[in-house]
Amino acid sequence: MGFATEQAVRHNCTVFETHSEPIPLRRRSGPVTATVEAAEPLTPLAVRVHLSCPELFSGAPPAVAAWVRGRFPVETAAPVTPSAASDSAPAADAAPDLEASQSTAGLPGPALAARAYTLVEMDPAAGRFALDFVLHGSGPAASWARQAAPGQQLEISRPLGRARIDPKHRHYLLAGDATALPAIREWLRLLPDQATAAVRVWLPAQSEVQELGGRSGIDLKWFFPGDPSMAELAEAGSLAPAGWTPADPETRFVVAGEAGEVTRVRRAVSWDAKPLPGNLHAAGYWRRGKPSDGAAVELG
Ligand SMILES: Cc1cc2nc3c(=O)[nH]c(=O)nc-3n(C[C@H](O)[C@H](O)[C@H](O)COP(=O)(O)OP(=O)(O)OC[C@H]3O[C@@H](n4cnc5c(N)ncnc54)[C@H](O)[C@@H]3O)c2cc1C
Repeated sequence: MGFATEQAVRHNCTVFETHSEPIPLRRRSGPVTATVEAAEPLTPLAVRVHLSCPELFSGAPPAVAAWVRGRFPVETAAPVTPSAASDSAPAADAAPDLEASQSTAGLPGPALAARAYTLVEMDPAAGRFALDFVLHGSGPAASWARQAAPGQQLEISRPLGRARIDPKHRHYLLAGDATALPAIREWLRLLPDQATAAVRVWLPAQSEVQELGGRSGIDLKWFFPGDPSMAELAEAGSLAPAGWTPADPETRFVVAGEAGEVTRVRRAVSWDAKPLPGNLHAAGYWRRGKPSDGAAVELG
């Protein structure tokens, strides 16, 4: 049995990699302030917030599917109508993130809660980028995204993540839920032309389907409520095209989404043969029923 080594990285965001080296948290110089330029709905349950921050790109080029940790005011988190939420989180989840509130105790301004979001639409020369938010419920980040308007400011970390394209990989399985869509789009944008990609995405409704960029020849499948889940497909051996396995030197699996679901996927795809180092990256982006803390998750 080839279970990957589990690397739990703080609280409820988890990353699993296939090697035993500790994952270094990437610490660069301090946070920066980004300014909202515009916010546009992408789907009924997703909004893209365009931001500017020339300082953000002053370091090394960001990794593939790089992300930032933003600090969102807890006070904007307000209950939403059930119809506006893709997940009916328990009422208790709408409560402020206590840890975040305490971390700002004694400082002026509202309590802030850290949350992770993938960088998209990056234009380093212009100092611009965007973040795509799933409007899943009433947490601080989703609530902030609903009301985001030009001129507002958001404190964010420098780009995080360390995934790089490895030319040895010729086949990519990219799988995840709505929170992983931005990362999947970034992977597709940066994959070498000769690489083949199979994309599997789980969404709460047909109306959440988005464009994934101009890449042709993708083996793309969307899944909706009532379809087998990502974990169920993995456990049935049919998440990836026949014969694809991260135990093959040329095949890389990138899986992200709800942590419990991703854990099952990781176990299932590691069951028959141990994934080669760097060939399986399975990241818990959120955990059902628990607020995130924006913890560091490195893409392998
Ligand atoms: C590296 C990384 C990159 C990420 N990139 C993105 C991204 O580009 N876009 C994006 O939308 N998310 C992304 N996420 C996930 C995002 O950080 C979490 O969904 C986060 O919990 C949202 O914060 P919140 O304040 O809105 O809700 P929280 O306060 O964290 O959670 C409140 C409640 O909502 C539930 N919940 C949280 N997220 C979801 C969800 N998506 N669907 C249903 N229920 C949910 C929780 O279980 C909890 O019950 C990323 C996470 C990581 C670690």
